Amino acid sequence: MVKILVCGDVEGRYAETFKRVAKLDKKAGPFDALFCVGTFYGEDKSVPAAPIPTYILDGEAGEVAENVTSLGSCGATTIEERKGGAGAKHLSVAFVADEGSTKQLEDACATAGFMGVDVLLSNDWPRGVDVGVPDAEVEQLAEVGVRINAAGMDRIAECAKMTRPRYHFAGTRNAFWARAPYRHAPKPPSTRKTHVCRFVALGKAALSKDPQRKWIHAVDIDPVPYAPLPTLQDEPVNCGDSPYLCFQSSERPVEKLAKRPVEDTDRGAFRWASVGGAQPKRRKVEEDSSTTLFVGGLPRNCDDQELEDVARKADAKPSAARCVAGKGYGFLDFSSRSDAEAALTSLQNADVKLGDRSLTFDWGTSSAKPKQQHYPDDARRDCWFCLASPGCETHLVTGVGDTCYTCLPKGGLVDAHALIVPIAHASDRASLDDATLNELETTSDQLAKSFREKLNSHAVAFERVADTKKGVYHIHRNIIPLPKRGSGDASRLVADFMDAAQRMSFRLVPVQDGVFRPAPSERFFVVDVYCGDSGSKKRFACVQPKDTPQRFAGLHFGRDLLAAALGTPGRAHWKACEVGRSDEERLVAAFKAKVLGEGGS
Ligand SMILES: [Zn+2]
Repeated sequence: MVKILVCGDVEGRYAETFKRVAKLDKKAGPFDALFCVGTFYGEDKSVPAAPIPTYILDGEAGEVAENVTSLGSCGATTIEERKGGAGAKHLSVAFVADEGSTKQLEDACATAGFMGVDVLLSNDWPRGVDVGVPDAEVEQLAEVGVRINAAGMDRIAECAKMTRPRYHFAGTRNAFWARAPYRHAPKPPSTRKTHVCRFVALGKAALSKDPQRKWIHAVDIDPVPYAPLPTLQDEPVNCGDSPYLCFQSSERPVEKLAKRPVEDTDRGAFRWASVGGAQPKRRKVEEDSSTTLFVGGLPRNCDDQELEDVARKADAKPSAARCVAGKGYGFLDFSSRSDAEAALTSLQNADVKLGDRSLTFDWGTSSAKPKQQHYPDDARRDCWFCLASPGCETHLVTGVGDTCYTCLPKGGLVDAHALIVPIAHASDRASLDDATLNELETTSDQLAKSFREKLNSHAVAFERVADTKKGVYHIHRNIIPLPKRGSGDASRLVADFMDAAQRMSFRLVPVQDGVFRPAPSERFFVVDVYCGDSGSKKRFACVQPKDTPQRFAGLHFGRDLLAAALGTPGRAHWKACEVGRSDEERLVAAFKAKVLGEGGS
């Protein structure tokens, strides 16, 4: 826990303010920091030493007195616990004074995987903070002189929206007001929560004992990313929607979630699930893009060559022909859709005969196609990860290796969230050959290295194989960059994973380097944490028999935890992060340029 004190406008009453702080620090502390919002200086500019590290939002950035630092006009920083050292936690703090450019803060929030901040400090109140507030509270504020519907600044509201703080403190209006908490994302889906903001306004420091002008406030905060997920998601009963949702924003449409329930199966939950997920729709896609023709009326003893010859006589140029033994039908494959379309027209018009039988032709959806170039024999046409499948969204592919390819997921947690996928369809690690396992490993290591060097980030990769319908699941590995926050945060991330597993009653244990290949009868969750500082890699796994009643990592375990670590629990579900095709193409191009270093720059 980081313990902080926040006070309202000091206006030169340094001694009285610091005296009270010292007293509180003794009684209820030690506190890690004092933040002063509103006007700090009075006519007397000689600031005495403060009893605890103190940060003010007045004047130019820099040291003001012993233990007193001015943060400057706008930006973001982190404050370390007073005890310091290896185990110290870092609190993320954004601040915005009444004037000056907010560019630095905008840039900080625009970085890939921006986490949201623990604390936002502003001098004045944000305009619009009254939206959704009960009349009784509005009246109470009016009693102490705040006409809330006319109060506040747009730039602060915009910063509150942009920085997604867990606490927002403001001064200036000499009133204490703890607004009902609000959630940053609108209308969360019933099962998932987003993190919550508490806005607290403070009265002028050391001026009044009136509780409506309370001027000092203490809070214990377990900062993102150290806070356990339930703490971050804890939504009080009086929680409402963000008052700033009417502001223009580039946020992605989270409300889609509520409208479109997603199956919680391994298939449905994954990003490639078709919109609506319905079978008939997918079949149509397959027909529209089929390059296979169905041939009916074949003699039962017909062979492939005979079928091919008779097709060629009718001007069709199949790449392969195949009769289904003893069944009286077969298939013709073509190398392109247009070849297949032309062939169908000419075959249907030609009264093609084999022996004394007239053949019929139509579009085929053969699942038993002979092998195509580039794709493995067992490529499935109903699998979103098999490149040959019509459902595979190949525009998200960022690179293809010998045995694996990389792509961006639909609705990635952060912009550079990537997947590493074996090209051959396999449902577990046990059925991957050594070359594929090896490439899976090296690709993961290489991406982690790029995240470290190009994005100044740690990386976390994870895979989960559970008790899925036999053979349907196509194994893949998620890899996600996490911006560095301070020294030692990679090891805290490891601790977070261990803790989260413990809370869910399963164990993650360290796994030695080497080939990780659980048996087909086993389910597993494996996570690799790559430290962005040292480049080291730590692997942990939970491996269990598939039929055990023991608790196991849930379907969303890895992503949930990382969403929380990034300070964006609202992005835990891919559906909340889905973007349109053109944005996906933009993300792919950005990934290639920024992470893979392609495209010249
Ligand atoms: Zn597949």
